[in-house]
Formats: sequence, C-alpha cells, structure tokens
Amino acid sequence: MLQYRICVDNAAAHQFRVALDIPVTGPGALTLRLPAWIPGSYMIRDFARNLSKVTAHQAGHAVAIDLVDKQSWRIFPQQAGTVTVEYQVYAFDLSVRSAYLDQFLGFYNHSSLCLEVVELSEQPCQVAVSVPEGWRLATGMPRLSGSHFAAGEFRAENYQALIDYPVLMGPLNIHEFIAGGVKHALVLAGREFADSERICADLAAICEYQIAMFGHQPPFQQYLFLTMVVGKGFGGLEHSNSTALLCSRKDLAKPNKAAIDNDYRTFLSLCSHEYFHSWNVKTLKPREFLPYQLQQEQYTKQLWFYEGITSYYDDYVLHQAGLIDQATYLTLLGDTIARVYRAAGVTKQSVAESSFYAWTKFYKQDENSHNSIVSYYAKGALIALCLDLKIRLSSQHQLNLGLVLKDFWQAYGATSLGTEETTFVDFVDQQYAIQLAGFIDAAVYDTSELPLAELLAEFGVSLLTATSADDNSVVGKAVTPTHSVSLGAKYKATGAGLELQTVYEHEAAQQAGLSALDRIIAIDNLQVTDATLKEMFERYQPGQTVTVHAFRRDELFSTELTWQAPLQCNKVLKVTNPQLLQGWLR
Ligand SMILES: [Zn+2]
Repeated sequence: MLQYRICVDNAAAHQFRVALDIPVTGPGALTLRLPAWIPGSYMIRDFARNLSKVTAHQAGHAVAIDLVDKQSWRIFPQQAGTVTVEYQVYAFDLSVRSAYLDQFLGFYNHSSLCLEVVELSEQPCQVAVSVPEGWRLATGMPRLSGSHFAAGEFRAENYQALIDYPVLMGPLNIHEFIAGGVKHALVLAGREFADSERICADLAAICEYQIAMFGHQPPFQQYLFLTMVVGKGFGGLEHSNSTALLCSRKDLAKPNKAAIDNDYRTFLSLCSHEYFHSWNVKTLKPREFLPYQLQQEQYTKQLWFYEGITSYYDDYVLHQAGLIDQATYLTLLGDTIARVYRAAGVTKQSVAESSFYAWTKFYKQDENSHNSIVSYYAKGALIALCLDLKIRLSSQHQLNLGLVLKDFWQAYGATSLGTEETTFVDFVDQQYAIQLAGFIDAAVYDTSELPLAELLAEFGVSLLTATSADDNSVVGKAVTPTHSVSLGAKYKATGAGLELQTVYEHEAAQQAGLSALDRIIAIDNLQVTDATLKEMFERYQPGQTVTVHAFRRDELFSTELTWQAPLQCNKVLKVTNPQLLQGWLR
C-alpha cells in the first residue's frame, strides 16, 4: 500500500507539503510521475511544473533521483523497506482543475498533489490529510479515520480512483440533504451570503429527477457539491461521487428571494450538468478512455455525445423538475441555437472533429475561433434535442432520449464497457428499431444544418429569427435593436476606442480590412468612445460608407467601411400549439 501524507506547509505562500511512503521489496528503479491533464478537462496542463524540492530517502539515507521528463522522476532504492519521497506543491490555480491554497481555503485534486508510482499503480492508496486549526475538510474519498468532515485518513483503491476524489478544506459551510434516498451535501468555501437551505431544496429536486431518470440507480453511495465561492468565477468538474465547483457569490440564492434569477439559474444549471456526468462520462464513457492515459493527449470523437447530451439535460432537468418555467427554458434553448449559428465556425467544423481537437482548438480558443470551430457542447446539446424529439416521434411518444439513455447506461455504463462511435446508433436500432444513422452522419460528422425547425414544429414550436440588439449579443428572444447598422465584429469599448475582439468572416469590419485587436478611434472623423457609441450606430443606414480610423498595434491607419444591415441572429422559440408541446415539455 502507498501512503501519502498531505499537509499545509505555508498557506500564505500557497504551499502544500506531501510525503509518500513506498513499500519497496528490494533494489530496483521505480518511476514517479504526475498526470499532464485531468479527466474532464481536455487540455495539457503539466501539473508537475508546480512541484519542487523532490527528495527521497530510505532508512536515513538519501535515495538517488533521476529526472526523466517534464513530469517523471526515477528513484533507485538500494534495499527492501519503505522509501519516503517528499516534495512541495505550489497551489495557486483558483480553478477546479488543479490546486489552490491560501489562509482562507484550500482545494486540490490528487492529480496535482500525489505522485503516481507507475510500477505500483494498482495498489491501494492511503492518504492522511491534516488541516490548519479551525478548518474542516470535505471529500468523497472513503474515510478510514477522523470524524465527519474533519481531517483524517482516507483510502482509494488505486491511483486512478485516488485522482477522482477532489478535496476542499477551510472553515467550510456544510449543508446535508437526502435526495433519491442518497446522502448529499452542499459544501461552501469562501465568503458567501447564500440561502443554503433553499439551494439544498432546489438541488434535491434536480438530483431526484436525475436519479429517477436513470432508473433509481445512482452510481455513488453519497455525493458532494464541493463549491468555492469567489467574487467572480465559474467552472465545474465532474467526479465519481462529487463535483468541484467554482462560482460567483452573486450566483448563489440570496435569502428572502423567491424567484430564480439568471445568476442563480446559472449555478443550478452548472450543478445539474456536473451531476448528470455521474452517469454520462464518469461511468458511461468513450472506450478510448478505458483507461485514461494522462501523460499526453487522449483523442476521441465522442465528446459531443458526453458533453452535448449533458448540456441538453442540464437545463431540461431544471424545467422538468419545476425550477424554471417553459418560457425561460425555451429562451435558454434559443440562446444556444443563436450562439451556435452566429458565426462561420459551424459551417467549417463538425462536432466529431471539434471533439477530436478539443485539446488544441476548443480549449485554446482565440480571436478567430468563432470563424473556425464549433462547440461540441452547444451544438452537441442541439443534436441531443434533435435526438430526443426524433425518438419521441419515431416511437409515437412511447420513448424519449431519457428512457433510451437509462437502458443505454445499463448496457454500457453500469457494465463499464464504454462506447465506440457507432455504439449508440446500433443500440437504438437493435433495441427499439429506430434508425438514427442517417441523422447522426449529417449532424455529427458533417456541417449541414440541423433539422431543428422541422422537429420543433412537430411539437408546436416555431423557430423564428429576430434582429440582435447589437453586435455584441445574440440571444434566444426578441429584443429591441439599439443599432440601425451592424459592424460585423464583437468589440469592447475602452477609453482608447473600440477594441475589436472577434471579426466575423465576410461581414462589414472584415470587408473594410479591420482585424481582431484593432482599436477604432474615429468613425467619420469623430472620436469613438463608450459615450458616443450608441449615437454613432444610430446615425447611419445600411449601405452607407464611412471613413474609419484605427490603430493596429501602435500604427494608425484609415479605411472605408460600408455598414451592413443589423443581423437576424437571435433565435426565438414561439409556442404555436401548447397541446403538441405537452409531448415534450411538462
Ligand atoms: Zn460537462
């Protein structure tokens, strides 16, 4: 058994200290390494760069260590007995992906703190964690000693299991609740003023719906929402019996506020999303991920299925569980459709390709991403919507995607078989005689438009387009346009002019030779500021040409820009037959 000891070395300096006792049976080399990425977040992050002062000793003598590569070491014990490896870990990444520590809270994934002993990877791991005076500790890792939510000793069955148990510590606010017969807890770290009782009640509704949806078989014995609350932040990462969350203080329900506003809805959607992953990606997962290879990129074309279906259900569950009304739900769906179809990326990349290149394109987005890639989350959610509606229609409303997923999870998730690219389509064909291959080929492997309007019409909903308010926003509802012309670029108004952030392909700004990062300082020889902006955009008509002065880096240039008509980028889902809609929404 491997024994890790983790303690706060210097909270103000963001330093953990880790000691690892390795049982050695005799002389021979052992390889130690840290993952380069963490499951669920598909980007090389090189966690090992935060380790320092790595030493090893045995029976009072130093053991030789060799540096192998950016994330691996080799040690050479000379005899049988315990070798202790010690090191410091710098923890200053305030995200759910790595590790963070200061005087007020601590959070870590074991993939950032615990070295894997490659030769002993399948051995059980025991972890003793100590915390500063007055702090509590929350983790889904099975406990060996210590009282409820206190420091103590924990155990994981092997290294892969270990890195699926994040740890949150600090003067925590912990609120327990039961959902679907299972113990859950909302754990809050950081300054907050939340109405935790209310949040727990809303979370319970979400959890109960999902547990019922998957046939009352939660793939965990208990579940923790481990939440870091900050002034401004957002993020979530799924784990086997917990989720790590980062949210803004304003996103948590405030006391005495009955309605679910957009901020709090965002938090509930995030919780719903990560919780859904307990089935869809934590247990049912791409066969390529069996097992995870964390030393380098691990490719799959299936992320659209795992993130797309999860994204479809995160808000759908909120509606079905009675937390958001039909109008709000349809607006959220309209938002997603509007975002997916705003730019040219959707015509250039399929979601299979988007999944495959998650590492370099989706996770490393830049000013041109709108023009070149599609989100496997957002378009994946629309594909899931199409699948849900298609399955309902093909089965005369006897089935829906949820019922199919329950069976599919039983067959490939509960059994840990994993999925290949055609597994789902084959399963639906064999089990229910519903053919989806043609649709999946077009929706997943091609860039052709999804049959959203046709399918929604079958459920009494018209998909309409509407003019966006301005160049910076596309939403799922009709709004009053504030501009009479469009620039064809997203921008940020600064004291020094309009900084272009994204220039849309073939639209006005690009046709005028403007680029992302250019700063427009004058239009028609008048200075552009935040204050004059609205006036400027109201003054002109589509087709008129103006002189634009802009800086590219520190070089001033001028160009002629022909305004285009405001774009019809908003998507509005309008209920035309409430009777038919009953077949899909409660
Ligand atoms: Zn996700």
